Amino acid sequence: MSQYTMTIDGQPVSSPGTLKVVNPATGDVFAEVPDCTREQLDMSMQSAQRAFHGWKDDYGKRRAVMYACADALEGNAEELGRLATMEQGMPLAAGIGGVVRAARDFRYYADLVIPRVTVQDDDDALVEIVRRPIGVLAAIKPWNVPIGMAVNTIAPAFRAGCTVVLKPSPFTPVVTLRMGEILRELVPAGVLNVVSGGNELGQWMTEHPIPRGISFTGSIATGKKVNVSAAADLKRVLLELGGNDAAIVLDDADPADVADKLFWPAFRNSGQICMAVKRVYVPEQMERQVVQALAAKARSVKVGNGLEPGVELGPINNKPQFERVKGLVAEAIEQGAVAVAGGHPIEGDGYFFEPTILTGVAEGTRIVDEEQFGPALPILTYRTIPEAIDRANATNYGLGASVWSSDPLRAAEVAERLEAGTVWINTHMQLTHDAPFTGMKWSGLGSEMGLWSIYAYTDPQTVYRTRAQAIKKNPGEAPGASQRSRF
Ligand code: NAD
Repeated sequence: MSQYTMTIDGQPVSSPGTLKVVNPATGDVFAEVPDCTREQLDMSMQSAQRAFHGWKDDYGKRRAVMYACADALEGNAEELGRLATMEQGMPLAAGIGGVVRAARDFRYYADLVIPRVTVQDDDDALVEIVRRPIGVLAAIKPWNVPIGMAVNTIAPAFRAGCTVVLKPSPFTPVVTLRMGEILRELVPAGVLNVVSGGNELGQWMTEHPIPRGISFTGSIATGKKVNVSAAADLKRVLLELGGNDAAIVLDDADPADVADKLFWPAFRNSGQICMAVKRVYVPEQMERQVVQALAAKARSVKVGNGLEPGVELGPINNKPQFERVKGLVAEAIEQGAVAVAGGHPIEGDGYFFEPTILTGVAEGTRIVDEEQFGPALPILTYRTIPEAIDRANATNYGLGASVWSSDPLRAAEVAERLEAGTVWINTHMQLTHDAPFTGMKWSGLGSEMGLWSIYAYTDPQTVYRTRAQAIKKNPGEAPGASQRSRF
């Protein structure tokens, strides 16, 4: 069985105890990873603390290290992608593609200019606002997209000047540990510590006195606990939590086209994406066409072990989540829903579930009210647009939402009234580094992506110089140029 080590202070570290990692496509244990002790966590925090000062003051070095990380990820994309598939279940192309995207993220953040903003420049004073890294960052991540979620945090944290202690989910620790093993040859000791363990380890991280910030991605229930724990020490928190994204189809949309474009944003990664479409609202008169088109797609998808060629959807990642999705679908059917496609687990090994389209379902059923995070999509009907908007908004979730229409003005009017951090028109699940990714309501606290991540991992600092001391500004200097040179 493959063994993996944690990375603490640049060194490989094993633990007295281990955790077993299951391949969700087979149900077999395929790897063992260390179960980090409290003392080892403390060593990693101390190491990150020691590394912080040299690291934060040398942007040139950070940029070179981030480029080296990008090259190393690309050079090992095949191996890392395979491990992602083996522990998470995603098709191999998605596993490898995720690593390649992570490499690009390192380069993007390496070159990101953090603006130095001048708010006063006159005879009295020169007043500038700069960003200062918060210090050691504790990064606690979920199982649905392990490398993507990890690098989406550590790349901006490195750019900001933070050092990191990173903990992947106990369901998917392998690819993150392996990434740590590869990167520890390139990253100064202590800058990136990777520890593995159960939920208790996450709690120890949030309670530890060293980290000044916590970057948490995971469920709302855990996010609330993290926030409470962080409050005791006034740590900065970035919480990226669950979603229950509604897609509202307007009556002027083409049903076949909508079904075609909406299917993958609902089912990619077997629905295990925070911003997946998780409920669809269609006009009553369009229900049959949209449902039939979505069901035909659901029935045509190749489900299987992600390592096999041609597989489009893998298993659900873990047993508890498999049982949850199975239970939500069964409960909906008991309450009168109809599975027009799927509806059942797939016989055999592994945690496979048929891609499922449910009709005859409404609010009050758990698969509509809660985040299913699996390959089962409820289709609800509505009579008026205000009613659809109210129902889409009547939730504590507020991550994403989409409107589907052939009329851009109508679509924009609806989009403006949706309570979600990201609203898409005629698409869903597209992100850009230049826009904040935010959860409204219980879907999160703070924003990430691009400069928004930098703001999360830095504090603003006002530098006020009386005019006599002010440095003469070079009129030709680009914004942020002085920042680039050293910090
Ligand atoms: P989870 O909350 O169960 O676990 C997330 C991480 O928190 C794991 O590493 C876990 O070990 C750790 N943890 C558990 N208890 C803890 C505690 N008390 N203190 C500190 N850490 C603790 O979530 P999950 O099941 O791994 O992930 C699925 C959830 O993540 C879904 O709700 C999904 O929507 C959400 N998610 C959100 C985003 C986003 O960007 N908004 C992205 C991906 C996933």
